[in-house]
Amino acid sequence: MSKMPKPPLRPRKNVTFEDVLARLEAHERPYDRAFLSSVYEFTEVMHRNQRRRSGQPYIIHPTYVAYILADLKFDQMCVATGLLHDVLEDTLTTKPVLESKFGTEVAELVDGVTKIGRQEYVRRDEAQAETFRKMILASARDLRVILVKLADRLHNMMTLEHMSPEARRRIASETLEIYSPISLRLGMSKVQGDLEDLAFYFLYPRQFAELEAKIRQKMKFAKNSLQRLNAELVQSLEQAGIEADISYRVKRYYSIYRKLRRQGVDISQLYDYLAFRVITGNLTDTYAAFGVVHQNWRPIPGRFKDYIAMPKPNLYQSLHTTVISDKGQPFEVQIRTREMDLVAEEGIAAHWQYKEQRASDPSDPNILWLRQLLDWQTEVKDPREFLSALKIDLYPDEVYVFSPKGDVYAFPRGATPLDFAYRIHTELGHRCSGARVNGKLVPLKKPLCNGDLVDILTGPGRKPSRDWLNLVVTSRARSKIRHWLNVEQKRESEAIGKRILERELKKLRLSPRKMVDSPRFRELLESEGLGQAEELYQRIGYGKIPVKRAIERLIGEDGTISTSLEVGPIRRAVDRLLPFGGPVTVKGESDLMASLAKCCDPVPGDLLVGYVTRGRGISVHAEDCTNLKNLNFDPERLIEVEWARRADAVYPVSLAIETEDSAGMLARLTEVIAKESSNIRHFEAEATETGRGVIGVVVEVRNRKHLDRLCRGIDALPGVLQVSRRAGGGAKQRRKAGRTELGHQRGRLDEDPS
Ligand code: MN
Repeated sequence: MSKMPKPPLRPRKNVTFEDVLARLEAHERPYDRAFLSSVYEFTEVMHRNQRRRSGQPYIIHPTYVAYILADLKFDQMCVATGLLHDVLEDTLTTKPVLESKFGTEVAELVDGVTKIGRQEYVRRDEAQAETFRKMILASARDLRVILVKLADRLHNMMTLEHMSPEARRRIASETLEIYSPISLRLGMSKVQGDLEDLAFYFLYPRQFAELEAKIRQKMKFAKNSLQRLNAELVQSLEQAGIEADISYRVKRYYSIYRKLRRQGVDISQLYDYLAFRVITGNLTDTYAAFGVVHQNWRPIPGRFKDYIAMPKPNLYQSLHTTVISDKGQPFEVQIRTREMDLVAEEGIAAHWQYKEQRASDPSDPNILWLRQLLDWQTEVKDPREFLSALKIDLYPDEVYVFSPKGDVYAFPRGATPLDFAYRIHTELGHRCSGARVNGKLVPLKKPLCNGDLVDILTGPGRKPSRDWLNLVVTSRARSKIRHWLNVEQKRESEAIGKRILERELKKLRLSPRKMVDSPRFRELLESEGLGQAEELYQRIGYGKIPVKRAIERLIGEDGTISTSLEVGPIRRAVDRLLPFGGPVTVKGESDLMASLAKCCDPVPGDLLVGYVTRGRGISVHAEDCTNLKNLNFDPERLIEVEWARRADAVYPVSLAIETEDSAGMLARLTEVIAKESSNIRHFEAEATETGRGVIGVVVEVRNRKHLDRLCRGIDALPGVLQVSRRAGGGAKQRRKAGRTELGHQRGRLDEDPS
């Protein structure tokens, strides 16, 4: 393995502010020396105590970025922005300060560059990369922001060796996936090639070194034949009366590498790495020169491309062909005019320098904006005006926003956080209670802006409402909300219908439960053309079937009621009383009925209190039941109760388990409960607003000891924050489990709170 070669592009040493001005001068760019000097001095003071990773004073970086921009022939606003591009991010300066010192235009540009820098690209897939690129372009508003960002990235890539290996990889792959495609789209092929070769060097050092060594070796052998080919080409063109500049060069490393990879060819078989460039004075000569090339050397079939007649989307124009020398060496020849060459190298930067209007393929929507630029360019003569007119909206119909995980999503303009929630997940939409955008709470109807970071908040009790339909613009969100509303409406109608029917039946002293199982009910369904009881309830709930009609069908046309359907008065309170031989006995009165209070779900081991209620027997509470303490009671009606000795009985207890919202929690929980030989009667999980989870579970336990052991087991699970015993029957208070060891069972009584 060969030693690592030098990076493909290194910064010029000791570039100063004077060099920046010299570049502007050399390119005959108009500029205001006093203005740029004051910008430079300000920048120098702001970054005075900062250093780059290389140990050099920080000012080297903004100076070099400005130098690149001046070298690319951009205007002085670009250069000023290049100098200032890091002051908002890395120093205490604010946008208003820049505004007052240097004007709104520069302040806006610097602000734009800073914002792009804050948007972190998380690698996902090609679709994500494309969305991110669009977002960068769209959020810039002014294309000069992109130009400065590209120059910034170029200098950072040139000095990447000073970064940690991890940072090198991250920055290099971001360059390859985001910034080099953007420069390609802007037609800046020189910047693109530099960015790619640098990224290639840092990302795949071994392959770079191998390719570089191979090309160096080949060039050594090819040197003489290349000079001969060059001379032949010059002579042939002269003989044909074509004036042209001819040069040859090795193609870009990364583009060679990519091509080898694409064709599945090993580096040792590399042959297509050379390109001759023929630059002519006018369009006619390009085609004439092309003819001369094909007369002298044998072309490789299928390798001829006419990008003059059919420009690339970024307006690149040139003739390409690959021919074989008499020694068997293939080489590519690119033929184009001087203007086309400038456009090929510099992209949009070149467009205002020549007035000649270039043809472009108007059918490609991707270059719509570029065509707008060109159309516009024909009307405007002043290049400075041209650049300030780059304030165009590249993607006027879309906004690009981030999820907390760093994914980028495209939305139509006007989309709201609610649209975002439904895009991520239907359930997230349904339970959306609010949104944080860039860390701030916003109303759900607030339209999203480019680059927003959107975090959706949910609430356990949240559900969609009809007015949500007015808050969303995406069809996905709209249809999900509609669907939910329809289902919900059915569910509500069903519950209402069922209640109405049951109420009417009870008035007639009919048992709804028995009625549903009766042949009459079946007949009713059939006569209405329905299959399920639920459908009947829905119809009644909607009012489509009058309840009177349903009842008439059920009790028969003659108005008589089948005796088998008759039941006694409904005594719900009695249903709740435990039968004889239940778990609790009243001292000395073993034939009195007692029931366990629903508010505290006592289990054997809990201290008990009994209270004689009016007409509902004895209600038994846990001694520390808060409901009990909060009520006034009549001491005369207190009664001592105790647990009956029944070894086989189990008691339901409701537990609330607070967890970090971690996957696999339910499975672990179930396992622990099973290990303690307890059964699960009921299970429900909900997420709190803080992102934690609360799992409600009703387990069966034999006694307090059993319960305490179970709670300790659950408490020991990783991810469990707290276990508490939850009041049954809808009461709100919670008691921490496992707190008291049990003594004997002696009770006091209280008013039944239920
Ligand atoms: Mn920078």
